[in-house]
Amino acid sequence: MTTGRTKVTRIRKQYLSIKSQYPDAILFFRLGDFYETFDKDAEITARELDIVLTSRSTSKGVAIPMAGVPHHAAENYIARLIGRGYHVAICEQIGSETVRGILPRKVVRVVTPGTIIEPGMLESGRNNYLAAVVLQGRDAGFAFVDITTGEFRAAQFSSDAVDRIILDEITRISPAELLVPDDMSHKIFLKRGVNVSQLPQWKFEAASSNQILRDHFDVTTLAGFGIGDKKQAIRASGAILHYLGDTQSGALRLLSSLATYNTNDYMQLDAATRRNLELTKTAHSGEALGSLLQVLDDTVTPMGGRLLRQWINRPLLDVSAINERLDGVSSIYDNGVLRSRLRDHLRSFGDLERLVNRAMGAIASPRDMGIIRDILKRLPALMTLLDEVQSESKCHALLELEERIDLAPEILEMLKHAIVDDPPANLQKPGSVRRGWSKELDHVVATSRNARDWIAGLEALERKQTGIKSLKVRYNKVFGYFIEVTKANAEMVPDDYIRKQTLVNAERYITPDLKEYETTVLNAEEQMLAIERRVFSAVCSEVGEQAAGLLRTARAIAHIDVLTALAEAAARMDYVRPQVVEDDVLEIVGGRHAVVEQTMQHSGYLFIPNDCRFLPHERVWVITGPNMSGKSTFLRQVALCVLMAQVGSFVPAESAHIGVVDRIFTRIGSRDEIHAGQSTFMVEMVEAADILNNATPSSLVILDEIGRGTSTYDGLALAWSIIEHLHDHPGLGSKTLFATHYHELTDLENQLSGVSNYNVAVSEEGDDVVFLHQIVDGGADRSYGIHVARLAGVPKAAVHRAEEILTGLEALGRGVVSEAPKSEIGWPPLGNELLRELEQLDISSMSPLEALNKLFEWQQRYKSSDG
Ligand code: ATP
Repeated sequence: MTTGRTKVTRIRKQYLSIKSQYPDAILFFRLGDFYETFDKDAEITARELDIVLTSRSTSKGVAIPMAGVPHHAAENYIARLIGRGYHVAICEQIGSETVRGILPRKVVRVVTPGTIIEPGMLESGRNNYLAAVVLQGRDAGFAFVDITTGEFRAAQFSSDAVDRIILDEITRISPAELLVPDDMSHKIFLKRGVNVSQLPQWKFEAASSNQILRDHFDVTTLAGFGIGDKKQAIRASGAILHYLGDTQSGALRLLSSLATYNTNDYMQLDAATRRNLELTKTAHSGEALGSLLQVLDDTVTPMGGRLLRQWINRPLLDVSAINERLDGVSSIYDNGVLRSRLRDHLRSFGDLERLVNRAMGAIASPRDMGIIRDILKRLPALMTLLDEVQSESKCHALLELEERIDLAPEILEMLKHAIVDDPPANLQKPGSVRRGWSKELDHVVATSRNARDWIAGLEALERKQTGIKSLKVRYNKVFGYFIEVTKANAEMVPDDYIRKQTLVNAERYITPDLKEYETTVLNAEEQMLAIERRVFSAVCSEVGEQAAGLLRTARAIAHIDVLTALAEAAARMDYVRPQVVEDDVLEIVGGRHAVVEQTMQHSGYLFIPNDCRFLPHERVWVITGPNMSGKSTFLRQVALCVLMAQVGSFVPAESAHIGVVDRIFTRIGSRDEIHAGQSTFMVEMVEAADILNNATPSSLVILDEIGRGTSTYDGLALAWSIIEHLHDHPGLGSKTLFATHYHELTDLENQLSGVSNYNVAVSEEGDDVVFLHQIVDGGADRSYGIHVARLAGVPKAAVHRAEEILTGLEALGRGVVSEAPKSEIGWPPLGNELLRELEQLDISSMSPLEALNKLFEWQQRYKSSDG
């Protein structure tokens, strides 16, 4: 016989054996209605979730720490643990047959940040990527998957700067979890806040990865996926499949294909540029509010939201693909009434993509199926609306999207007939399947209803037959249905009544018939539930089989949603369609900064538009001007306009003529990356080096205040040489916007044919300075820094003193500062040489004649170098 104590010990043994297989995860061990955690796991769980830490004693009387959460509320607790970087292994009771007194248990899933599927734990407007990276010399393999949408991609890179490429990719897709082999250094990812999971190196092994991929896709070669010869890409993709197999094997069936990609197909944006341009979050707070995405995001479906984010993160290079998107936006932009009807209609399409995926993974709820049905019902009306847009615009791109929509009539018919109008959120109770769909179910329902009717009519019938007016038919949980007769009438009870219970004033009876009907009623619910589960699972797999068409539909709707959103944003914020071409041209007339403009508008200010027209010979614009005048804003607005155009969006300008750029580089502001072990100036120079090494003649380079992080002369010299290099180097000549406080740099216009000076206009009225925020020809000669300090509230005395010091410095500068750097910069080697010689002269031992001779010699050398 099993005693309570030995049972506890056996469960403990079972627990320890399972836990030993998941040392890195918190084990949620199912015990009845609770998930219990023990030992260290319990301490972490109690601390992180703020729940009570209790204890359970073993047969030896040892107290084991324990903390539990009710199973029906587990999702929320798991989400919190995942959010704090833990992995949770869910261990369920499997079956109802006990083995030596305890139920068998098994880990059914390990929840990790990259493998969650619960809608409540996912952010609707963004993908939840699980990525893997592997490095070998100058080769890297990179793969990522979103198991909630079925997207699975892989790439291989070969470059001396392969680390940087990987970092850029990681910044672009921002994975929820990154898999790396345990022998690879991953500090660099951790420093950037990436959630890293280390896997044993063998899970990245090439041959087994190749095998697991071929087995998964049931193919003999991977060539069809474009990675046949890409060993590193295969290793990364294989590791993802391994990991999903270990953690979330159900997700594997959602991955029906693997697409390779090549970063050369898209505008390349490094991590610094994404951050500087604040594409999807602000550099300062990391919030979406204040980013380009947030300003443009007029999507009305979560899948559209995700797609817009992908578009912004990956602007195109192919002019015809860009124009196809722009055609789509134009066709919806042109008719405001249709656009608003389209948006209203699209709103009701929800997240078809994730819903279909849940159906494929057999985790969809009856409510999900109801939503899929309702979405399918609305498709014909969407087609009609698209036809209307189409008949006006004759847009080929839109027509193609329309053709991708699959009305899935068979699925719709099935769901209409199989699922009730308003299905419940789960299958814990019957009530999901519509009557008439399953004969078996209908039969059970009818029998149960008959039995209920019979029981309902029993009281009246028995009163009549026995003549006992006070006879009652009742129900309680202990006895089920019974007939109650007062003691006074007990004599009148017929013979077939079986006495079950005696109360003070009454007797309770059952009859064989009543018991039979009771069994029918009570069993019916269980039978109905079993049948409904079976029927529902068949419906799900039917939908799963048609998933490819439904997913194509979902993606077409997401695409239409994004085009509509961009049209809406363009109309709402007065954008124009840019003319995007292959040529070497950049001409933005009346351009504005998409985000700053909105912020200013909300505070009641007007944004001043500016032009940026690169003349054919111009390569570098040197932009000077006071602090706070809008130099940085102008630089960014040009970069954003170009980027938006290549995303396929209209742009904030009166007109824009944009030649496709292959990369945008930015070096903006001074920023410390102390957490990454780099000083401000080091970051500045790393970014500058990256630009000089990797820019091409088709790149757009934005340099803001380069050189500011070091001493004036060092900074000026670097800024000068960087402009020269960008201008002169045969592989560069990128269009460059260079904002600077070094007014000396305006001299470059006279020395380099492709350099032009621009400045931000200011109007001085007495002591007051008014920033006009207007970019005009020519260089500026003052920075008005002290004026800005006054505006910022620096105490009057300090401002006044600064003015005094400035006057002094300027007087000095007229003799020394402003002359010396100019001449030094024009002829740096000689300038430095003369200074060095001067420093080394022993004047006290020189005769006046010797001194004069030395002066004469220098003058001659100086003059000849000027020639
Ligand atoms: P600093 O040299 O101090 O870095 P800056 O010249 O780069 O300054 P920005 O930071 O670009 O100046 O702009 C300062 C502020 O001026 C912005 O926050 C914005 O409020 C305003 N501003 C910039 N450009 C415009 C514009 N075109 N129209 C209206 N206001 C503008």
